[in-house]
Amino acid sequence: MDLFEYQGKQYFARFGIPISPGGVATTVDEAVVQAGLAGFPVVIKAQVQVGGRGKAGGIKLAANLDEVRHHAGNILGMDIRGHVVHRVWVERASDIAKEYYASFTLDRGARKHLAMVSARGGVDIEQVAAEDPDAIVRRHVDPAMGLSHEDALQIIRDAHIDEEAVAGAAEILVKLYRCFVEGDADLVEINPLILTPSGQVHALDAKVTLDGNASYRHPEWDEFDGTESADPREQMARERGLQYVGLDGTVGIIANGAGLAMSTLDVVNQVGGSPANFLDIGGGASAAVMANALEVVNADPKVRSIFINIFGGITRGEEVANGIVTALGRVTISSPIVVRLDGTNATEGRAILKAHESDRLVSRPTMVEAARTAVEYARSADPSTEDHAR
Ligand code: GDP
Ligand code: MN
Repeated sequence: MDLFEYQGKQYFARFGIPISPGGVATTVDEAVVQAGLAGFPVVIKAQVQVGGRGKAGGIKLAANLDEVRHHAGNILGMDIRGHVVHRVWVERASDIAKEYYASFTLDRGARKHLAMVSARGGVDIEQVAAEDPDAIVRRHVDPAMGLSHEDALQIIRDAHIDEEAVAGAAEILVKLYRCFVEGDADLVEINPLILTPSGQVHALDAKVTLDGNASYRHPEWDEFDGTESADPREQMARERGLQYVGLDGTVGIIANGAGLAMSTLDVVNQVGGSPANFLDIGGGASAAVMANALEVVNADPKVRSIFINIFGGITRGEEVANGIVTALGRVTISSPIVVRLDGTNATEGRAILKAHESDRLVSRPTMVEAARTAVEYARSADPSTEDHAR
């Protein structure tokens, strides 16, 4: 789950990472109130989950109320590379002497946390990495050992952070690490981390990705739900408790088990089709779950055919088949459906499907045959689709 800057800053604040005083606003009037609370001059920042907001005109300084009205009015509703701005963050503007970079991510290959610090912040870190890789200090942190204050100081010094910022930056690095670990994040990034002319160090931007698998122990994350700018299909699936990832193709996929769902995408691709989504309905395949899944896939306007790929394990074939048939009675589906049913009691299940077979619902005995049929349906429904036939 990616947080907006303002949420990331509020998350940082819980761990004692210094940020500028500010507040979020969804209207010009609210922006005026927040500016009054923060104190002038303020900076008004578009809240969208896309970089380069400044260049796009999404970050503006305002010296007085008129300027707040003017800039907030322009930024709210602005489209920044496909992301519409629904909120602005208004904070006290900072004087900047230096801009640094600090982040923690997971290095899965090394099975360690990775700290990255650079004295060249404020710009895209990818750009720094390309132009001047030595300007970024990368240091693994053993999760069992953690990051001591001494470790943090060493990293900060190795990154050639200015002497007057060393103490403040090291303290922030320790807090940022706590935010990363105790806050169950996959990424925490401060770019820029600034030094002010008066010698203060604080975070001017915040990028936080939370680890969704840890949400069960963070009831406080609920407040982040719904503010995320998600794919509407993914939003719909999440509301129904389904594991769904939206893709760009025309064949809607419903499978049980993440592994089978992944293989289904591969097979559809192999036979020249393009999957519209990944959808894992989990172990069971009850009528209720199947109806939910069909509803989500059916709501995708790009979908031209639906491929249901179920391997019966504990859930028996006839339960799956009955689930599909009952679900079809509840949801009106606009695309033809191809079912591949295998595993426990597949024969019984297929017999049930056979009795309901039509040009809208067919069953195929193998995954490849079912994929071929689903791709053919998708093509004939939409001849303009340029799939990469092999
Ligand atoms: P991003 O470009 O979307 O990552 O947005 P940032 O929050 O990182 O801001 C981009 C740039 O705007 C920063 O690197 C600063 O140079 C500038 N900026 C942001 N806030 C302030 C501020 O309070 N004062 C000043 N002087 N510049 C700011
Ligand atoms: Mn930034």
